[in-house]
Amino acid sequence: MSTFYNNIPIEDLPSKGRLYREDAFFRIKILSIGDIKYLETNNDIDIIYKDILQKNLETNVPIDDILIDDRNYMIVFLKINSFTNSQTEIKTQCPYCGYMNEELHSLDELDIKYIEDTYANDGYKRRINLTYMAVELRYPTIGNYNRVEGEFADIYKYTDIVSDISNMDAYDYMTLQTAVDEFKIGFQEDFLQTCGQCRNDYNVKVVVDYNTLLKGVDIMLVYRNILGICKYCGYQINDDMSYRDYMSYLDIVNKMIEEEKEKEKSNSKNSMESSSFISLKNNIANMKNMIKQS
Ligand SMILES: [Zn+2]
Repeated sequence: MSTFYNNIPIEDLPSKGRLYREDAFFRIKILSIGDIKYLETNNDIDIIYKDILQKNLETNVPIDDILIDDRNYMIVFLKINSFTNSQTEIKTQCPYCGYMNEELHSLDELDIKYIEDTYANDGYKRRINLTYMAVELRYPTIGNYNRVEGEFADIYKYTDIVSDISNMDAYDYMTLQTAVDEFKIGFQEDFLQTCGQCRNDYNVKVVVDYNTLLKGVDIMLVYRNILGICKYCGYQINDDMSYRDYMSYLDIVNKMIEEEKEKEKSNSKNSMESSSFISLKNNIANMKNMIKQS
């Protein structure tokens, strides 16, 4: 069931594959029911995503060498292609007229910033000289990802700084932050929203939360539905089936049940009609008898 691989064109990746071997390829399988269960029972997102890629990715690049921004692209690819509905509602307030705009947006609307070949001569690294030290910017990989959340997340992500940078000189900090902003690649977190009321455009910041991106499926409900499908049509769904196929099955079975209910309803309506018809016929016969008798 759905064991085919989707090709991810190398030029589509934020890194355009520039840091991999020349013949690098990536083919990925969308999430199975087993993957969905695994995602819901584990919490460390970096470990989970590595495991998911190890299982679902066909590639000639070692998993640890894949850039985090390319990994994130693949995770969003899985999100868009594994679920039948990957749209999310984004509520924003218009700064011009105060109107609340509620719109469905899909992750594939987000722009991607690609790697710039101006860094090619330096091996896609960049050296920034600060007052007392030099910092090297580099694209983090699954193997050397310096994961820190919060205000300075991007600086930690794209450098090998491990010391506390909250005490850094303001000028150095600005220099470094600007350099990192220029250097970073991947999904751009803002897009243009047109107000439904005053038609003005304004910028909306969307934060893609990779911690929850593939999560949120009610596993107990999945178990229940799998049993329901089996009970209804005798089809045994296993963990290898893609989540998308399972959703289609569920949709079909629900429609079949709905149709059967409708049929039952109209059947009982028909029998009601015919019974009232019979009683009417009886009444006429009775009336005729009564007339005859009189
Ligand atoms: Zn407006």
